[in-house]
Amino acid sequence: MRTVLAFLFGEIVKNKFPSDLTGLKFSKLLVLSRQPNKPHVTYWQQWWLCKCDCGTISIKHRNHLCAGTSKSCGCWHKEVSAKMKYKHGLHKSPENQAWRDMLARCRNKKLKNYHRYGGRGIKVCKRWLHSFENFLSDVGKKPSPNHSIDRINNNKGYYPKNVKWSTAIEQANNKQLCRKYRYKGLFITITQIARIENIGIERLRYNLKKFKTLSKAIKESKTFHYGKKLSEKEVAIIRKSKLSAKVLAAEFNVSEASIRNVITKRTWNR
Ligand SMILES: [Zn+2]
Repeated sequence: MRTVLAFLFGEIVKNKFPSDLTGLKFSKLLVLSRQPNKPHVTYWQQWWLCKCDCGTISIKHRNHLCAGTSKSCGCWHKEVSAKMKYKHGLHKSPENQAWRDMLARCRNKKLKNYHRYGGRGIKVCKRWLHSFENFLSDVGKKPSPNHSIDRINNNKGYYPKNVKWSTAIEQANNKQLCRKYRYKGLFITITQIARIENIGIERLRYNLKKFKTLSKAIKESKTFHYGKKLSEKEVAIIRKSKLSAKVLAAEFNVSEASIRNVITKRTWNR
């Protein structure tokens, strides 16, 4: 069947073009001369020597030339595939990956983290929803491989003013600020706990990392002393004193911060 079709096709194109193709131009190919037939092929399978616009000499099949399926030595195809590769390359850019990941987090219910994004109403703005180009022109290129898309306000969606590139460390810090802990029947942030307990937030955060449990971290934050240990007697004197923190620090040979912490009852708060 295939042979019959090929034969018919050959007959049709044979009629449309002269039997001698020499001098004819098929897209980029200029036909130079007929090539001797290969011994095993039938008469209508003719091979022609062609010169491509790019200068390459190649041998093409008459039917392919006449049907327009042979258009160049192969350079045209290479050009096209190079263009495709370029396009594909853009598609694989880190910015595009970030854009697609962002869309997936907000739309793909199958994702593990969906409840933290789309599941709680985090949306991608209309401007970015269907246009990677818009997204790229708004957020710019990714500054380094360590950067990823970060929302400034974690409870708001993805839109130009709420999104920036940040490093994993910056994001972790953000998350830690927003992370909530169970505390006396409440579910609150570490900042709020520090405020309630009247202890330094940085100290509490540090101790939380060190001691793992919140209760231990709070306890340690309260009894922490900077450098030299002050006695209870000294603490009492400092708290009664009207002198400045600077003078007291020199007097008791501790840091000004320690004096301030004693005065504000951030330390020695018992
Ligand atoms: Zn060529």
